[in-house]
Amino acid sequence: MNDIKELWEIFNERFSDTGLRKGVFAAPGRVNLIGEHTDYNDGFVLPMAIDKSIVMIAQLRDDKEVRAYSVDYDSEAVFSLMDLEFDQENIWVNYLQGVIDEIQKLDYYLPGMNLIFTGNIPKASGLSSSAALEVVTAYTISSLNELNIAPVEMALLCQRAENDFVGVNCGIMDQYISRLGKEGNALLIDCRSNEYELVPLAIEDFRVVICNSKVERGLVDSEYNKRREECGKATKFFAEKLDRRIKALRDVSTDELVEFSGELAAVTLSRARHVISENNRVLTAVSALKNNDLETFGSLMTESHISLRDDYQVSCQELDLLVDLALKQDGILGARMTGAGFGGCTVNLVARNRVDQFITEVKAGYQEATNIEPEMYVSLPADGAREL
Ligand code: ADP
Ligand code: MG
Repeated sequence: MNDIKELWEIFNERFSDTGLRKGVFAAPGRVNLIGEHTDYNDGFVLPMAIDKSIVMIAQLRDDKEVRAYSVDYDSEAVFSLMDLEFDQENIWVNYLQGVIDEIQKLDYYLPGMNLIFTGNIPKASGLSSSAALEVVTAYTISSLNELNIAPVEMALLCQRAENDFVGVNCGIMDQYISRLGKEGNALLIDCRSNEYELVPLAIEDFRVVICNSKVERGLVDSEYNKRREECGKATKFFAEKLDRRIKALRDVSTDELVEFSGELAAVTLSRARHVISENNRVLTAVSALKNNDLETFGSLMTESHISLRDDYQVSCQELDLLVDLALKQDGILGARMTGAGFGGCTVNLVARNRVDQFITEVKAGYQEATNIEPEMYVSLPADGAREL
């Protein structure tokens, strides 16, 4: 990623000064520490922002036009604020247009803008570069036009942009954490009420290490839909059996799952078991963090992986290998796949003084077995969207 001075040079070469307000803004990617495939079951997730982000430089213009340049793709787009249309060719433009569309739907008046942006979040690896792009766009627009869009409102409008304009059916986690993340904290999100709580992640002696398997998440769409169907089936089953309102697997307890396990098809049972146990793990993990008990936190991460691998069946050989290699290293507290699965990344909690060795060993083992060179990123919990 270019530094800010270089970015200004690129900006100034491309656009002449309009004399209007300008600034530099950033929004981060994220890694989900625990709580996978719980969001669409009205459950809990616990992501943290990472210190990889998208940086945007922008200046207002007054002719209702947007001139946008993606530094990383070396690609420019020009569109009118009064005529937003899905761009088949340059997919990245749709994230910007979607956000603008949602802001305008809230009846804010926008005058136009010149902008450039660049990022160092690996794309399509499950670290949510798309939410970072949406959030930095919304944050830039809100700041330069002094709209004061409230944080949660901003996160939700970014989610709608991705759902409705880009056409990706995502939950609220990515936009929430990219907007609301705070240095030194993870973010507990209740995906039913949309309420959230910052949870201090005091990991001075530990680091979060993210291992990118570099495996494309090929199966993810069709399998994701199948998992949602299975969860729907399980919910319907419990809604008929239990004498109260069951809206999602969030509402079913472990005891109830055990009680009715004989009546559920094996696959449905194991899918439900993952979701119900994963929700419990998130809440237990938050308690562990509040008690400064990182050992328990790490064990829960590893249990989460086993559940995703065996009960939810959304892992793959490469992710399992990364986790197995990680658990053999000194100083590891926990390891799991993160994101939807079938590729993407694992997340690991590693003693700070073992991080270098961890990276060397896991890289070597993975490369030897797969011939793929994985990428490793070390991060502390970072801030959400901000002005630079
Ligand atoms: P992710 O898991 O990273 O969110 P997505 O497929 O949801 O993966 O989003 C990736 C898309 O976001 C890219 O195809 C691109 O359109 C856009 N994007 C992300 N980062 C950048 C960037 N630095 N420059 C241009 N577009 C980007
Ligand atoms: Mg995305």
